[in-house]
Amino acid sequence: MSNNKIIKGFSLNGFERFHPGEAEAVKRNTSIVEMEMPELKEGEILAETLYTAVCGSDVSATLSKPNFDWIQRPKVIGHECSARVLKLGPGNHGSLRVGDLFNPVAQLGCRKDDCPACRSGKWNLCPDKIILGYHKNGAFGQQMVLESDRAVPFIEGLNPEFGAIVEPLSVVVNAIYSKCDIKPGMDVLVTGCGIMGLMAAELARAAGARVAITGIEQDRNIRLKAARERNIATIVVSPSKNLLTRLNAGVRDRQGLTFGRKGKVDLLIECSGISQALAEAIYAVKPEHDICLIATYPDEVKLDATQVTRQSLNIKGVMGSHKEHFMVAQKLLVQGAFPAAHYINLYDFNHIKEAFADSIQAKTTKAVIKMN
Ligand SMILES: [Zn+2]
Ligand SMILES: [Zn+2]
Repeated sequence: MSNNKIIKGFSLNGFERFHPGEAEAVKRNTSIVEMEMPELKEGEILAETLYTAVCGSDVSATLSKPNFDWIQRPKVIGHECSARVLKLGPGNHGSLRVGDLFNPVAQLGCRKDDCPACRSGKWNLCPDKIILGYHKNGAFGQQMVLESDRAVPFIEGLNPEFGAIVEPLSVVVNAIYSKCDIKPGMDVLVTGCGIMGLMAAELARAAGARVAITGIEQDRNIRLKAARERNIATIVVSPSKNLLTRLNAGVRDRQGLTFGRKGKVDLLIECSGISQALAEAIYAVKPEHDICLIATYPDEVKLDATQVTRQSLNIKGVMGSHKEHFMVAQKLLVQGAFPAAHYINLYDFNHIKEAFADSIQAKTTKAVIKMN
């Protein structure tokens, strides 16, 4: 253990409200702090964070969106990371050893015998789950103390930089594997081109679908460009040319063919977190088809429920992920099913505020911080 090293962390402090895109939020609501690592309790480990990714939720929390008011401040945030075991605390840690590389699961369940979610291993659905970086200090600290139960050891061939995005990818794996019944040849519409949207688009296409992804004007040159370079059709929506107008006019895929049938698609995966985007997009889904929600929303969504009834639509939510999804995500990264290098932008810890500002302004597809 490094005794004299000053351990730094990126801390969320403020509750000042900012609009999407306002990078000023980083200055006002966050700071770099020096950390003292607490003594290890039963079942805990000390870990060195290697690479930590900036999540859309971290961005929303920095902007102080109301759906993140529940996070107590100050808090060293961060929950998407690769890490190395520095020290094992008292108690049993299974096969985990000092030096092992791992991903911590973001959501740790209560693990009580009478909790149905935990009994089935679905900690993400436990009512008393503890989220790394929100309920307790997380992966934007250069070191962290966490329960060894969270550790999902690296599989062979996974590099730590790509390992930083196992957690978000695992959530999309949960969506694609458990909620979206994708068959080859389907037309899948992904709304929102943050990393969740881009990952959903990639995995839907890997499952054999033809995919289109939406964004706004400011996404054209970075996030949608990244999608276009991967042969995913892109749709820029605006108040004057909304999604339905664009689909009805005939969106072209990368071969110049019309995407969707008469403006309708087989599956909608909503990743924008914008209420209006969801409210509108449900009209683009074919009868008896699925709408899969990965996002959360800062306000109440006004949804045409009669449309859901009359078109016999299925709305399915996806909350986080559990260990099984992590293991699949690791495999997809090693095999290249998700091309991590295409989407990751690397920053040093010294530039973490810049990474957050760039993330807020959508100047990066996925910011990953080299923590030490
Ligand atoms: Zn996340
Ligand atoms: Zn539980």
